[in-house]
Amino acid sequence: MGRVYNFSAGPAVLPEEVLKEAQADLIDYKGCGMSVMEMSHRSKMFDDIIKEAEADIRELMGIPNNYKVLFLQGGGSLQFSMVPMNLSMTRNGVADYIVTGNWAKKAYQEASRFIKANKIASSEDKTFTYIPDCSDLEVSDDADYVYICENNTIYGTTYNELPNTKGKLLVSDQSSMFLSRPVDVSKYGLIFGGAQKNIGPAGVCIVIVREDLIPEEDVKNIPNMLQYKTHADANSLFNTPPCWGIYMCGLVFKWLKKMGGLEVMNQRNIEKAKILYDYLDQSDMFTGTVVAKDRSLMNVPFVTKAGDKDLEAKFIAESKEAGMENLKGHRTVGGMRASIYNAMPKAGVEKLVDFMAEFEKKNK
Ligand SMILES: *Cc1c(COP(=O)(O)O)cnc(C)c1O
Repeated sequence: MGRVYNFSAGPAVLPEEVLKEAQADLIDYKGCGMSVMEMSHRSKMFDDIIKEAEADIRELMGIPNNYKVLFLQGGGSLQFSMVPMNLSMTRNGVADYIVTGNWAKKAYQEASRFIKANKIASSEDKTFTYIPDCSDLEVSDDADYVYICENNTIYGTTYNELPNTKGKLLVSDQSSMFLSRPVDVSKYGLIFGGAQKNIGPAGVCIVIVREDLIPEEDVKNIPNMLQYKTHADANSLFNTPPCWGIYMCGLVFKWLKKMGGLEVMNQRNIEKAKILYDYLDQSDMFTGTVVAKDRSLMNVPFVTKAGDKDLEAKFIAESKEAGMENLKGHRTVGGMRASIYNAMPKAGVEKLVDFMAEFEKKNK
């Protein structure tokens, strides 16, 4: 069987070129006689890999020098606790959360275990189908930060404008949009993302944090492994890092640079998403589930207009037969979802839309 078009939300499609490069390196990485999975994280070989990966992501995102880039483990989910522990427990112990989906809600609930977390806006009233107006929120005076999930993987919404935090730090979960478009890092106190959505394999979480926010002193009631300081001081080599994952992320960074960088990726992503949204907007059978102005370019949930579960099941089964995998929607939304990350080629989206049009004709 050849490669399928994989619309999974994560772990998700990786560029075929990158997989081939990893395959070529697998047995004998650059003549060192072993694979990256087998080498010491203290070796010169690996040191070059992690340093180059960091340099490349800095270049791609234009990360200012006063920000640290950390390669951590524990997925995006561990940041739900590390963020309040490191940025708030050591300060006022208060933070504001904008809840726009499951992941933001989980982050809010987790933070509530350690600090006073305030939910200052939410779109739960309409099943997270929109981004609330964040231009004039009641930001708490003593909030250590304002937290957002910038692209909502499950519900398919994204912020086209950052919230007005009234001078407070902004913390953003960018897991499902990381490196999909340029961002101005200097507008954030901290950005994090699990790699397995848009960057690399599962097992790495990238944290970009402004240096002055990392508590300087060792914080006694935070485990060593959960302190940013521990990892920042050791350049992500405090203990064994997810070596293979970092190597794969590094290959993806090189691929992104070769593609022309994040502005080019953004244009490609806009073009790809437009093909799908344009089709959905004129379809008699299918419809997108979110408010048009807040549509994600990465995750596109859609349903049948009639809410016909049998027809949706048939669609998912037949799309699989046609070589398109993982189009089933998240269990909380139902219907379908096409995740069309950086590595999804335009041809994949075109094939999906052709298939949908054909399916619509046949099942009128
Ligand atoms: C997938 C996802 C997470 C959780 O990531 P894990 O690595 O599984 O912990 C967090 N936030 C967002 C936006 C996600 O899409």
